Amino acid sequence: MKDRDPERSLIVPLRLLERGQLRWSVTVRASDLAEADTDDDLRIADVELPLNSDVRVELSLELISGGVSAVGRITAGWRGPCARCWTPLDGGICASVREVFAAEPCEGEQYLLHPEHADLAPMVREAILLELPIEAIACPHPDPCPNLPPDLASAYDDSGHDDPAGAADPRWRPLEALRRRQAESP
Ligand SMILES: [Zn+2]
Repeated sequence: MKDRDPERSLIVPLRLLERGQLRWSVTVRASDLAEADTDDDLRIADVELPLNSDVRVELSLELISGGVSAVGRITAGWRGPCARCWTPLDGGICASVREVFAAEPCEGEQYLLHPEHADLAPMVREAILLELPIEAIACPHPDPCPNLPPDLASAYDDSGHDDPAGAADPRWRPLEALRRRQAESP
């Protein structure tokens, strides 16, 4: 592993915890987190962390019996399209964390503590993924969405009468309205 700038590293050498407590405040790139696990991007559906964006990690680490506790917060920015008009939107998350690193971690509850270091990346990734918006995001303009012609914007009427199962992706509704409009035109 190449030497990492400690100001930008999520690898915490345990020798720094000799006094029992340690503040770990670093800014890393989202791409640093993606590297940790190449088959899984930092994204939920269409919402993702741009690879070149900053992720701020502010933690208090403490030696506890059986491991190291990590308490603090993680802030990051995401980007995703408006579900109605596809305009790119930016947003931010702030995730609170309270986790334990252990040499023999309980599956799903704790993170692995290596003999000489703690790798914060898996914890940071999970904290971010839990905070990314999972519901469709929309641009701040009230209905009708400014990028849609009025008759298509009205397709977002949430009465759902054209959607008996209520399961259709709402992003397709303008397309359905467009099809209806074409079918009705001579
Ligand atoms: Zn929009």
